[in-house]
Amino acid sequence: LISSPTSPGLHIIHIAAEMAPVAKVGGLGDVVTGLGKALQKRGHLVEVILPKYDCMQYDHIRDLRVLDVMVESYFDDRLFKNKVWVGSVEGLPVYFIEPLHPDKFFWRGQFYGEHDDFKRFSFFSRAALELLLQAGKKPDIIHCHDWQTAFVAPLYWDLYAPKGLDSARICFTCHNFEYQGTASVSELASCGLDAYQLNRPDRMQDNSAHDRINPVKGAIVFSNIVTTVSPTYAQEVRTAEGGRGLHLTLNSHSRKFIGVLNGIDTGAWNPSTDAFLKVQYSANDIQGKTENKEAIRRNLGLSSAAVRKPLVGCITRLVPQKGVHLIRHAIYRTLELGGQFILLGSSPVPHIQREFEGIANHFENHDHIRLILKYDESLSHSIYAASDIFIIPSIFEPCGLTQMIAMRYGAVPIVRKTGGLHDSVFDVDDDAIPLPFRNGFTFLNADEQGLNGVMERAFNLYMKNPGRWQELVQKVMSMDFSWDASAAQYEELYSNSVARARATKEQR
Ligand code: ADP
Repeated sequence: LISSPTSPGLHIIHIAAEMAPVAKVGGLGDVVTGLGKALQKRGHLVEVILPKYDCMQYDHIRDLRVLDVMVESYFDDRLFKNKVWVGSVEGLPVYFIEPLHPDKFFWRGQFYGEHDDFKRFSFFSRAALELLLQAGKKPDIIHCHDWQTAFVAPLYWDLYAPKGLDSARICFTCHNFEYQGTASVSELASCGLDAYQLNRPDRMQDNSAHDRINPVKGAIVFSNIVTTVSPTYAQEVRTAEGGRGLHLTLNSHSRKFIGVLNGIDTGAWNPSTDAFLKVQYSANDIQGKTENKEAIRRNLGLSSAAVRKPLVGCITRLVPQKGVHLIRHAIYRTLELGGQFILLGSSPVPHIQREFEGIANHFENHDHIRLILKYDESLSHSIYAASDIFIIPSIFEPCGLTQMIAMRYGAVPIVRKTGGLHDSVFDVDDDAIPLPFRNGFTFLNADEQGLNGVMERAFNLYMKNPGRWQELVQKVMSMDFSWDASAAQYEELYSNSVARARATKEQR
């Protein structure tokens, strides 16, 4: 009766707002693709449902075609037709929903940040379930992500299980509890949910603003499995300081809540095959790393006078969570310590974007500092490959992928000990950690002194002990940050949940 956790063959549907590389804003996009591919490799049938954005990277979708049936879905007391497109992204089958709604929900030239995001994504969540129902699919697991598709959980149990789409368990992953998508209660009714019934403290009512509805809270309450993206962050969000108002909800649902550390897509992030790089290289042959460093210096107009000048990289969304004041400090400190700094980042926050534009202009033709304030996938690969040191001074960090990608490319991370950074980077000087795990530099206090100390230690090792540094580079490149272990954990969570549901059904 109870299928073994490793037995293959689950049918898993991811419903998400992002998927790398076609529609990626941050880590969520990487997770949908990376976890999806890893589960597919383990023998499961994995499918993804995404909005059909106008601004997607269409060149990464194979065999895109429109299906000849329309899916009609309910919204604001009416039925709207949706065109459904199907294609393949990184070998995963993906359905793209194009709503034929006069507001052109996903035809806005950007993924998020529109005034009607709540409306757009509650529409999408319902249309995705409608697609599954009308296509007669019988998934074992429906996995939704972040507030944009959190509506799937209450919609499933309140409306779709009664309609016969009742084969699935719902898994919800919160990639960042800072973003909860709250809105006034009345907005919830548009997608057909009963706002009056759901606006209760034990359901979707926001814990601090009682006249608001909280989709993330709804997904915690209504899902069978709730995960976040690292064990340490899972602990942090269960405290009053870290939970952004949801700690009590998480504590009362703690039995189904767990932190699973993300992996990275080691196929896409592989310095020995990476086509974006000037020269491919591996842990056994790191000469190529120096050539990539040389190439980027030339391309960005940095000085190449001293080959062994340490290059510090930073690739990030410039938002307060990422410790922007510490990033700014790190730029100046790097200069004082005799290094070079490349920042690739962009900010949705106008005053931060302006501040960094000011710094970028200040250093415009500088020999050692370059700020590139945009999103650029190909440049990101070149920076990971060129960097000796990679800096992530986050105030909080649910998981963080850049430290893992950096290590895969031989850039040694400097991180603040928080969330997933705490679970993946262990200080080279920390005697409490077994030697094989030590892989970077960590600091605790989110202030300039804390950062100064850790940067000095990293620069010292790099400059005074090249032999040990090289060993460290080879060691971090050889560490396993693939999805294998985490996908196995998800597989176990899914299988146990499916088995419990079957056992309950048979008892009836
Ligand atoms: P978050 O999801 O909070 O943005 P993560 O560390 O989980 O942070 O994931 C960030 C991902 O986005 C990484 O793959 C990183 O390389 C990428 N990224 C962030 N900023 C940029 C940028 N400006 N250009 C290219 N890639 C970026």
